[in-house]
Amino acid sequence: MEPLTPLEQALHAARALVLADLVAGDVAEADVVSLVEDSVAQRRWWVEQWPDGVDYVAGLVAQDVQDALLERYGRWPLCPVCGSGDPHALDVEPELGPDPHWVCHKAGVKVAAVGALGRAGGGMQSS
Ligand SMILES: [Zn+2]
Repeated sequence: MEPLTPLEQALHAARALVLADLVAGDVAEADVVSLVEDSVAQRRWWVEQWPDGVDYVAGLVAQDVQDALLERYGRWPLCPVCGSGDPHALDVEPELGPDPHWVCHKAGVKVAAVGALGRAGGGMQSS
């Protein structure tokens, strides 16, 4: 087998991370998974045009899927930090950068790395 190129590795990783967050939110249904595949396909083209963006792919796929879900299903992922008030979605930060995280702008906190939402669920842990 040919070793995977850095581009393919990044795309595989992005797909796995976003799927993990979808599973954590209980929304990883077949049509939702196909949204992830669509985004990965588009971002493959995008990174081929701009190889320096390879580290940004996970954050971009997360945002693509978030936008696609908003049109079809509603807000995702819901903020697990704020217990009261209007339910609101988390945002990806940085929008265009490496090491993307889900953040709640309302509480001003980093909730989890993209791909680690499952570990952030279930409310806040007391420290
Ligand atoms: Zn919040």
